[in-house]
Amino acid sequence: MTTIARADAAVKSARVMDAFGRHIHYLRVSLTDKCNLRCVYCMPEQMVFRPNEELLTDDELAIVLRAASLLGFDKYRLTGGEPTVRPNLPAIVKQIADLPGTREIAMTTNGIRLAQLAGPLKEAGLRRVNVSLDSLDETKFHRMTRWGHVRDVLAGIEAVEAAGMTPIKINCVVVRGFNEDDIVTLARLTCERDWQVRFLEVMPFADVAEFQQASIVTTREMIERIEAGLGKLVELNDGRLDGEARMYRLPGARGEIGFISPVSAPFCANCNRVRLTADGTLRLCLLKDGELDLRTPLRRGAGAEELADLMRQAIWRKPWGHELAHGVIPLNRIMSEIGG
Ligand code: SAM
Ligand code: SF4
Repeated sequence: MTTIARADAAVKSARVMDAFGRHIHYLRVSLTDKCNLRCVYCMPEQMVFRPNEELLTDDELAIVLRAASLLGFDKYRLTGGEPTVRPNLPAIVKQIADLPGTREIAMTTNGIRLAQLAGPLKEAGLRRVNVSLDSLDETKFHRMTRWGHVRDVLAGIEAVEAAGMTPIKINCVVVRGFNEDDIVTLARLTCERDWQVRFLEVMPFADVAEFQQASIVTTREMIERIEAGLGKLVELNDGRLDGEARMYRLPGARGEIGFISPVSAPFCANCNRVRLTADGTLRLCLLKDGELDLRTPLRRGAGAEELADLMRQAIWRKPWGHELAHGVIPLNRIMSEIGG
């Protein structure tokens, strides 16, 4: 057997399971906690970010990514904060594309910098992009993101389409008093566009939880609003989840509409992922505080094999799921410090 064939065989035989029998093979990588927007449901306007020395360097990140590949991870999503503000982003994408076993690389972004970056990212190996867009109305979009302009996001989406990174997914977080009236207009986009427009329930985190809990719009209400405006939604895939979204289509539409309902209908049974935060912890569940510190062992010289062992043991202890229904909310980080 050649060295490359042996490495491939080793990757195929690596399979990381948790104690509930879930195969964990999807890593969401937060590249930075920093952002060029300040969405009201995500972070305060005066957000204080971590000092750069607390964040993983490119070299440290490369070691963690190699460890993930040794454990058979095959799907990666880059997120943040805003991933496009991380320097050297195309080089990081290329590094992941070159790992043994990588099948899919995607990114979740606010889209502001995509007009410049879509081409280089496609060339580096990025395959799919989820763009966050909470309203098509400039005034409302600006009120929600505090600093953003819809035109920049739309230019970014156009650049993604031109680069051929399709199908495009649009994420819209629905926030009471901000954009619940806009979801019909966003859903209507799927009549003309081959896009997947996905509506998310707001999730509660730490200091922002009070606002988030007060402003949640449930999936049930979203569906009622869309059906009142545009007609009956047809359920797709016999109701099975596509990732974390339940999918529908408007009659005759080109695109699809998805609903992500972590609060009203948790999808923990299907969870196949863990998250790497920008400051180097492996977070086992988005909505639970348990984490494994990887930065300390990294900074005392641990290599990919040692980290892979630590990650395997931690993943075994991945919690079954969140307990929002019992009033347990994550306290140690907000969303932008974890990555969606
Ligand atoms: N900055 C990028 C963006 O906005 O797409 C990536 C990071 S952001 C934390 C990832 C996703 O989480 C976005 O779609 C964002 O709208 C969503 N999000 C942020 N805070 C949220 C919250 N409290 N509840 C639900 N979704 C949230
Ligand atoms: Fe930034 Fe994304 Fe959070 Fe908005 S949701 S503030 S774009 S990290």
